[in-house]
Amino acid sequence: MSETTTPGTPGTRAAALADPAARRELMAGVRPEPGAVKPDPILKVDKIERQFGGITAVDVDHLEVQRGIITALIGPNGAGKTTFFNLITGFDKPTSAGRGAHWEFDGRALNKTSSSSVARAGMVRTFQLTKSLNRMTVMDNMMLGAQNQAGENLLKSAFKPFWRGQEKAVAEKAEELLARFKLLEKKNDYAGSLSGGQRKLLEMARALMSDPKMIMLDEPMAGVNPALTQSLLGHIQSLRDEGMTVLFVEHDMHVVRHISDWVVVMAEGRIVAEGPADTVMSNEAVIDAYLGAHHDTDLGDDELLSDDAVHALEDEVRADEAAHQPGRHQAHKPEGEKP
Ligand code: ATP
Repeated sequence: MSETTTPGTPGTRAAALADPAARRELMAGVRPEPGAVKPDPILKVDKIERQFGGITAVDVDHLEVQRGIITALIGPNGAGKTTFFNLITGFDKPTSAGRGAHWEFDGRALNKTSSSSVARAGMVRTFQLTKSLNRMTVMDNMMLGAQNQAGENLLKSAFKPFWRGQEKAVAEKAEELLARFKLLEKKNDYAGSLSGGQRKLLEMARALMSDPKMIMLDEPMAGVNPALTQSLLGHIQSLRDEGMTVLFVEHDMHVVRHISDWVVVMAEGRIVAEGPADTVMSNEAVIDAYLGAHHDTDLGDDELLSDDAVHALEDEVRADEAAHQPGRHQAHKPEGEKP
């Protein structure tokens, strides 16, 4: 139990929350195990299950996401990460509804809430630019991202003056965000004309239009060229440093290691491990989950197998080949030679 986060010590808590390093420090005492209790969770999920036909896509018993840090959700293909995102943001319904499924965000129960109410509560996910969004300008995409503030509500939209009153402020905010993400000069371009990395930046900027408390990113680095990767990572870290909670799904283990304060691992719908990146990536259950799933993720340099282990395996294979194909191994290139 962390005494520093009890409601009775608001000064200590506020100080801890204002300082990103202190916020991460709060995690030092958290046990690296599935379902670990966090000192200051912004999201708590219980008994959420989703089946498709005979397949259990998600079966999460308990998960807490700590406020104000970057949490990565990783797992092999088909582990249930996207389905889990869809469930907690109200885009899908659990099959365990009525059987104890419960989740709350910032102290507010969300299980019976629509996706737009979830967004209004402050939990916002990014979306890939669909065909129709691609045909809109960058600025129009941003204005659409603000709809949680006013325009989305049909009743309010009917009162145009209300919306008009906000329009100028919303446009200014959109331009500020576009400037921050270095997209301002593209504001009148079609979103479809942006590069892969710029689209990811626009998706993030658009999500920020509704001032979320937590931003959820689904594979923020997919399709991004290396030049923009660094900039995207920097933006994600800045959001955290400004106090936002970040939850992201990512396959690239370099990215996960680089920016995550905490890593949650899913396999076959369940949470199988949690902890700091280094702890998690040397966890047996994680290695089993990845290797067992024949995933297509590049775990290359990520020490799931050390260099020594790889060399030992290569030696073993060569020795095996030599033993079974006498004479042929003579023609092989010298060991270790790379093209
Ligand atoms: P990836 O990393 O490949 O995106 P994931 O971890 O996000 O995978 P999900 O896409 O959530 O995994 O899928 C989990 C399981 O649920 C998979 O077996 C998938 O085939 C199944 N599934 C997901 N959506 C549906 C659907 N709409 N209908 C049927 N099965 C589905």
